[in-house]
Amino acid sequence: MSRVAYVNGRYLPHREASVHVEDRGFQFADGVYEVIAVKNGSFVDEAPHLARLRRSLGEMRMTAPMSDAALKSVMRETVRRNRVKDGILYLQVTRGSAPRDFAFPKGAKPSLIMTARAQKPLDPRIFSEGVAVVTLPDIRWARPDIKSVALLPNALAKQRAKEAGAYEAWQVDRDGNVTEGTSSNAWIVTAKNEIVTRKADNAILNGVTRQMLLKLSAEAGLKMSERPFSVAEAKDAREAFLTSTTNFVVPIVRIDDAKVGEGRPGPLAQRLRALYAAHAASDAAGNAP
Ligand code: PMP
Repeated sequence: MSRVAYVNGRYLPHREASVHVEDRGFQFADGVYEVIAVKNGSFVDEAPHLARLRRSLGEMRMTAPMSDAALKSVMRETVRRNRVKDGILYLQVTRGSAPRDFAFPKGAKPSLIMTARAQKPLDPRIFSEGVAVVTLPDIRWARPDIKSVALLPNALAKQRAKEAGAYEAWQVDRDGNVTEGTSSNAWIVTAKNEIVTRKADNAILNGVTRQMLLKLSAEAGLKMSERPFSVAEAKDAREAFLTSTTNFVVPIVRIDDAKVGEGRPGPLAQRLRALYAAHAASDAAGNAP
């Protein structure tokens, strides 16, 4: 079955789906995006993803291409036409296409693109054995809190991780503190069982999985702290893990050449993974058409 993309009002087979050569998303990375998990045909954490999309659009001084109700209906139709039961929906909004000029065009209509694809469950060894990360300087712009389509630094860092045999790259700011992964948020557990993740400042994307996990952990009475942590502290931590829409919670057992804890997935990462998985399943069920 050929995949179908939504592009500016039309559902098209991928091979026919395209944006204009002067689309500002293509020319300048002048656009934002969202990635939403689909579980059993329904969206997980749809409301916080749409809220973050609104925030990204606002920070970019862009107008929304349509109302949330209309967006939701296109999202559902894109999933339906691609027959996705468990998978991912991608949504991009750009400032539209206009003759090339950095200044905002007058009257350009935002472009809206959606694609969806099925995703096989991740290799269970990722959770039973944990993964490795490498640390690299964070070379991104000063506003990674905006989910912009300017993902070149992320792609370069992910490629470095892959070449090093690692699952993800943790990006490090000028003070030696971990900001986040290339497509995930970064967490550690200290010797005192305190769960630590950087606060949602301009240096990181405020992950929806991160937001939900902070809430779920607080409800479970776990000790949380939103503060910066250094690479040295992470290497010394009892546990480390990453969170994202596509991975939920993945334990990290190696940072560069250092073993984290015993070099095995830690109990808190596993507990948080179970907490988030239960939340995702019930949220999707509540969202079922
Ligand atoms: N940071 C970055 C840079 C990301 O691209 C992502 C993935 N969207 C995340 C964090 C995790 O965010 P979420 O939990 O909303 O997927």
